[in-house]
Amino acid sequence: MVTGVRVALSRGPSRGTDGFDDMPLEGPLVDRYGRVHDDLRLSVTDRCNLRCVYCMPNEGMTFLPRQDILSFEEIERVSAVAHSLGVRSVRITGGEPLVRRGICDLVGRIARLGFDDVALTTNGTKLAGMAAELAEAGLRRVNISCDSLRPERFADIRRRGRMDVVLDSMDAAEAAGLTPLKVNVVLLRGRNDDEILDFAAFARDTGRVVRFIEYMPLDAEGHWSREQLVSGREVYERISAVWPLEAVSDPGDPAPADRYRFSDGNGEIGLISTVTEPFCGTCNRLRLTADGAVRNCLFSDAEHPVRDLLRGGGSDEDLAMLLRRAVWAKLPGHGINDPGFLRPARSMSMIGG
Ligand code: SAM
Ligand code: SF4
Repeated sequence: MVTGVRVALSRGPSRGTDGFDDMPLEGPLVDRYGRVHDDLRLSVTDRCNLRCVYCMPNEGMTFLPRQDILSFEEIERVSAVAHSLGVRSVRITGGEPLVRRGICDLVGRIARLGFDDVALTTNGTKLAGMAAELAEAGLRRVNISCDSLRPERFADIRRRGRMDVVLDSMDAAEAAGLTPLKVNVVLLRGRNDDEILDFAAFARDTGRVVRFIEYMPLDAEGHWSREQLVSGREVYERISAVWPLEAVSDPGDPAPADRYRFSDGNGEIGLISTVTEPFCGTCNRLRLTADGAVRNCLFSDAEHPVRDLLRGGGSDEDLAMLLRRAVWAKLPGHGINDPGFLRPARSMSMIGG
């Protein structure tokens, strides 16, 4: 296991400028530290049909007014500008992206822009009936969230929805060719950490890549605590004690998961250790919220609003400049482990996970 920030930042901020004077006006989207941004997360809604305990309250979540949500045309336009600036991959997320009406149409619009990869993260409750249509529209892969392999516990953690429906959606995704299929598991101490080996066995039996995600301080209720977090290191140790693991990560790979294959060749897992082993040094991600804010980090409150530009006659050059500034303004790290860290005002489902 690698510890600490995975890759040293290549250079520090330039001195003596207002911060933007030496921002490049051509070439790829790059920040002050030399990190090239070529991966875009598109949140297409802040709404969801589930209420996972680590994400939303059971009751009383307020959602964005519909007029604030970007239209498909607006999302497509920002995506096209991002593509022209070197963005190569897009992940569609939310909230739950499959509750947005017409989502297959949006997937088709994004896919036709020519990205190398178009993927989607879903809770899997509505995917089974849509997988084939999504694949036909140009979707390449899906990540499906599933935090327990025990039906009652699944219901306890996700509060709504059924585990068997989610498992069926995994079969449907594979049948539609939305592979490699990744399964996202958020571990919560005392709630589902006794299923680590069950999930490892599931990965070995099915060939699906199970990704264990550390609980992040992004739940809407503000209940996060370090005591509830189960570290990637612990997951590694518990699994490798039973089934030896080998790292397959490339240290320069910007993907957030540290990848490990089972030494006997039966499958793979991923560890997303955002809190205990930050990967900010290789972060290549840029986000667009459902209401049109460009964000350069899940954990930063700095937002660069694009909606007024879109609706106020802004040109593609204006949009490109906004994207460049949003990336250039990125801080070297998320700072979760700094004493002065303040959790962001917007929670995971509002930003787009
Ligand atoms: N609704 C979809 C889903 O659940 O897959 C997509 C959006 S969800 C915000 C994206 C991912 O973020 C999911 O895998 C979810 O489990 C994860 N997530 C949500 N809240 C989290 C938190 N507080 N800490 C870590 N992961 C979280
Ligand atoms: Fe909904 Fe996904 Fe948040 Fe669960 S994690 S409440 S499914 S947005």
